[in-house]
Amino acid sequence: MSFYEALLRPSLSSLRAYVPHPVPEGALRFDANESPWALSDDARRAVAEAVAAAPLHRYPDVRATRLRECVAAREGCHPDCLVFGAGSDEVIALIESALSRPREGADAAVIVSPTPGFVMYAVTAATLSLRHVGVALDADWQLDRAAMQRAVDAHRPSVIFLASPNNPTGAAFRDEDLDAVIVGAPESLVILDEAYGDFAAKNYRARFSETGHVGRLQTLSKVGFAAARCGWAVLPRGLASEVDKVRQPYNLSTLSQTVATLALTTLGAEVDAAIVRVQNERERLYKALQNIDGLRVDRSDANFLFVEAPAGEQLFTRLAARGLIVRSFHAQGGRMTHRLRITVGTPEENARLVEGLCASL
Ligand SMILES: *Cc1c(COP(=O)(O)O)cnc(C)c1O
Repeated sequence: MSFYEALLRPSLSSLRAYVPHPVPEGALRFDANESPWALSDDARRAVAEAVAAAPLHRYPDVRATRLRECVAAREGCHPDCLVFGAGSDEVIALIESALSRPREGADAAVIVSPTPGFVMYAVTAATLSLRHVGVALDADWQLDRAAMQRAVDAHRPSVIFLASPNNPTGAAFRDEDLDAVIVGAPESLVILDEAYGDFAAKNYRARFSETGHVGRLQTLSKVGFAAARCGWAVLPRGLASEVDKVRQPYNLSTLSQTVATLALTTLGAEVDAAIVRVQNERERLYKALQNIDGLRVDRSDANFLFVEAPAGEQLFTRLAARGLIVRSFHAQGGRMTHRLRITVGTPEENARLVEGLCASL
């Protein structure tokens, strides 16, 4: 036995480091919910100029002042309500870490989120030795209010994460269900994860900006800037400054701050146009998949579609053999066995996907 085994956090034995599915060269990726479009040449030039002008010999601005101003204006919040991270993944970790004190009588703090859902809430909880409780969505992949309330009453979660639109199911949750969960958990922080909010018909900016125990999470990753690693939370102000204590001072590099700021200013129109194109392509792809015998596809408010296939794993393998990489959930079993998640691509990519699907079913 090596010396470190006795030293490792016990929860690590149940975790595996994240290894994405290998993507063969030339394959088309529909698996990561990124934007399918690279930046225009003009936008690249703007990025190049801004990066060239950045003081790379200095540490980054600890407060991300300029970015903070842009985001506060966009979110309609006070700048001090914001906590930034290298992607919203990091912000999730900061929140869970700051709120990790167990409730009286419990041996670990509890994180609740619906399942199927975004895995990082649970993975991060495990790395921090917190307890994650998943609450199954109902038959329509919507929130099961009664089950959520039972989980809240039984486990007294410190944080409840609700991604709306939800990943991997694609649909936004109903307003009345969100309200019910929020009202039913007055002693928990409820985080509305809006990673896909830009693709939905509505966002929660106005409704939940001043609610005492509700926060929101945003990222630039799904709208064209996955490589910039920039996400943020809008939190009740006092809580934001507590969560910020957990943050490494230089977690957002100068490059991230520079590119993220551009994305929200000079490049804003291009970003918005790409979002509209994704929304239009989503509708076209939805109709195309609906017409394929054997596939069932659900309505989506996000930049991907949630699909049921007769033999999910087999279809995934056949598509991969054709250089079409989608996300399969067969490993989760149960009602996820035959489910695939397909990110909306460019029109050309989507045409090849549809062709591949027809040939593989
Ligand atoms: C992709 C995703 C995120 C995290 O994205 P980052 O790249 O870390 O900003 C957060 N929540 C949901 C639901 C996601 O799908």
